[in-house]
Amino acid sequence: MTGAHAVVSARGARRWADGHAWIFRSDIAVPPTAGAGAVAVRDQRGKPLGLALWSPQSEISLRLLDPDPDAVIDASWWKRRIAVALARRAGLERDTNAFRLVHGEGDGLPSLVVDRYDRWLVLQLLSAGVEAFRDDIVEALDALTECDGILARNDASVRTREGLPRVVEDIKNVVPDEITVIEHGVRYLAAPRTGQKTGAFLDQRENRVLIGAHATGRSLDLFSYHGSFALHLARNSTSVTAVDSSAAALTRGRQNAALNGATNIDFTEADAFEFLRATEKNAEFDTIVVDPPAFAKNRASIAGAVRGYRDLNMHAMRLLAPGGLLFTASCSYHLSKAAFLDMLRDAAAASGRRMILREITAQPLDHPELLTVPETGYLKGALLEAVGPA
Ligand code: SAH
Repeated sequence: MTGAHAVVSARGARRWADGHAWIFRSDIAVPPTAGAGAVAVRDQRGKPLGLALWSPQSEISLRLLDPDPDAVIDASWWKRRIAVALARRAGLERDTNAFRLVHGEGDGLPSLVVDRYDRWLVLQLLSAGVEAFRDDIVEALDALTECDGILARNDASVRTREGLPRVVEDIKNVVPDEITVIEHGVRYLAAPRTGQKTGAFLDQRENRVLIGAHATGRSLDLFSYHGSFALHLARNSTSVTAVDSSAAALTRGRQNAALNGATNIDFTEADAFEFLRATEKNAEFDTIVVDPPAFAKNRASIAGAVRGYRDLNMHAMRLLAPGGLLFTASCSYHLSKAAFLDMLRDAAAASGRRMILREITAQPLDHPELLTVPETGYLKGALLEAVGPA
């Protein structure tokens, strides 16, 4: 394979030995002369380390595919690896028709994301290296899932850093603009072309079920988006207030409520912070969900983000009725699990409430967080209970 091999520094080799999948540009001693695709990787003594995806323009230059230097990265390799990922999810179909089939590095399929929405798939090719295998990947998905259509949501900003265009395109047939998701008996519409992520927040499924099962009385869903938490809360609550700052998101939320025949959800357009401050002295809730967008977009913004999370959670805790439950989450990768719990501790202290930690939640089965690749994990949640009178 002339030109199709990379030589990496000792530090680069160590990252793979430590279980990470990436080798950065600064650890490439001799770059491949070949274009984006699969390359063999060796250390500076010539020892073969395995095969990787090669992204010539990216800071993340190499992503481990197979530690076996004799592996052949062809259509059958992709099909086998994708089949393993699909097999892990087999049980999910009993409860939902929408879940993640491939979670990138977490499934040993670096920079590849595939979500299933009923009979359609939404694909994201997030590196130049994986883009080079698009045909093999599409062929494998088609053969393994027999789906009705495949949409590429290749509009993620990371594609720019890979030197790739940002596009949304149908790859097989035309995927509908709206797809009905059935999630543990709740129905909602996903918008694969235009919605956030690949059309919905599939990663919160189990958390919605968890807090939905515990919900009672008056419930509040902050940062409701299309109302997915609100719909689960509505089943066991007398009333639900769903708050979001986006009118368009709330319109979809109302449609979703109608789809479920839920008449006890009040969709309110408001800034969540202002809503909490305005409500604090006038109301209490038995169940509250706080599921904000990622406040920490990078390392530099962590401190400000922590203040935002702390403020939100403190106000939410104060609004809880005695015995009330709060499910709170953070999807900021840059906020570690430990920092998330510290933030909640500070919020509890500042709230003046005694808060019991009932459960800490991590990512669901279809979003595997590989321990040695921290970047595969981002979502943290906690179920908290307010003890006694306020
Ligand atoms: N809970 C949702 C996902 C929330 S996404 C689910 O499970 O599907 C984050 C949402 O927060 C978006 O809908 C966005 O419109 C909303 N948002 C962002 N900033 C906000 C603010 N300051 N106040 C209220 N909503 C906000």
